[in-house]
Amino acid sequence: MRLILLGAPGAGKGTQAKKISSKFNIPHVSTGDILRSEISSNSELGKKAEEYVNSGKLVPDELIIGMIKEEFKKDKFRTGFLMDGFPRTIEQAEKFSQLLKELNLSLNKVINIVVDEDEIVRRLTDRIVCKKCNKIFKLSDFSKEQPLKCDCGGELYKRNDDSEEVIKNRLEVYKKQTQPVVEYYKNSGLLENIDGLGTENEIFERILARL
Ligand code: ADP
Ligand code: ZN
Repeated sequence: MRLILLGAPGAGKGTQAKKISSKFNIPHVSTGDILRSEISSNSELGKKAEEYVNSGKLVPDELIIGMIKEEFKKDKFRTGFLMDGFPRTIEQAEKFSQLLKELNLSLNKVINIVVDEDEIVRRLTDRIVCKKCNKIFKLSDFSKEQPLKCDCGGELYKRNDDSEEVIKNRLEVYKKQTQPVVEYYKNSGLLENIDGLGTENEIFERILARL
């Protein structure tokens, strides 16, 4: 199974991606997770990406495309993949099509999770993430006394870019640069729009029904 997951920040891509990749046993590639781990290990790539990520701007296409090409050298991609947070610009989408062609691979579907803007802002301001496994939680599900811990033991934290100011930027960027990518895949006939309101499992079932 070779899939791309699209959707605005906070649409639920990360949560659904984990479920899909474990169901089909395919690698989950989150460019956001890769970038955050490069930033926290202070690598060359991390140093270049940090300012963009923290201010809600897109990291330049060349860096992202280089990163994806590096990933795709790994054998595990032969069995399939699930892209989450990539491609985010038309340039990335075109370069990715080219790469897949070179590797003789084709996409099965592009899943677009659709959620309105008010709901997105609510979700992002309430979001906390596990430092260790990147699992996503809601701050409002925890009481004041409860430790902010994941089931894996990792500490839960609020992402730098999940602040009100940066959220606004990310939504602007999404509309300008990523919405056209939805059109790009619509034209290729691979797009499936999924209503992103409901429980995690309801949304997961909707996705499975389209695969
Ligand atoms: P979200 O979808 O919630 O915004 P991500 O974890 O996917 O979160 O991305 C966080 C940030 O990482 C983005 O705002 C951007 O700065 C950077 N980023 C992630 N993926 C890409 C990409 N494909 N191209 C450019 N920048 C990216
Ligand atoms: Zn965890």
